[in-house]
Amino acid sequence: MSNLTLALLGRKPSRQVKKWQTKIQKVTDLLVAEYGTPSLGNFRDPVKEIFYIVLSARTTESLYKEAHKRLSREFLNLEAIANAPVAKLRKCVATAGLGKKRAVQIKAIASKLLSDFGTRPAGKLRRLSAEEAYAYLRSLPGVGPKSALCVMMYSLGFDVFPVDAHAHRVLCRIGLIKPGAKHYHAQGVLPGFVPPGSSKELHVALIVHGRQICEPRVPLCNECAIRMFCNTGRDSKS
Ligand code: SF4
Repeated sequence: MSNLTLALLGRKPSRQVKKWQTKIQKVTDLLVAEYGTPSLGNFRDPVKEIFYIVLSARTTESLYKEAHKRLSREFLNLEAIANAPVAKLRKCVATAGLGKKRAVQIKAIASKLLSDFGTRPAGKLRRLSAEEAYAYLRSLPGVGPKSALCVMMYSLGFDVFPVDAHAHRVLCRIGLIKPGAKHYHAQGVLPGFVPPGSSKELHVALIVHGRQICEPRVPLCNECAIRMFCNTGRDSKS
């Protein structure tokens, strides 16, 4: 079966897919048994999700959640965002950081959605094929492959695997990619190892695991449910 994420990215699966998919299915099962499939605050409405994902880049969970809440509270629809002065938007999303840059981006996204789809873009986005949805989301100002895939996975129901910082770090420590691999390489390779139908539950579980146990600086390997599958954990004394 072809891998949708790799097809969208124009990448080919690695030759080691079979070996790793079996292992990653076990990792997924163990992580889901450990953490369940919690909500991370994402939205079924793709328009709300686009802004949520944009605000979540390079900041912490509580700060981007607060910024998104304020944005939804102070600007009730796309037109209000598109017509708002940048300074007002900047103040509104300031907690998420990158104030002016992010305000300009949010305003530009709202304007493009309005001009392409009118005042109710959500239904039209939901009717797009995977290829159309990916191409459209990537055409939005500042929306890269990971953000586009997140919106597709969380809101549009596609079995695609975005590689965020947690997924990159944990899967790298397990041994799927070499230490120091760039994000571009990781996003183009790792989705090929994800068993079909498991993208969302694995993605969410890796975020929770990365936040609670496999932390960036010092992973808590002796508390880790997937240590037996991890190259780093096998070598670790902690
Ligand atoms: S064993 Fe350690 S490095 Fe490996 S996934 Fe678990 S916490 Fe991370």
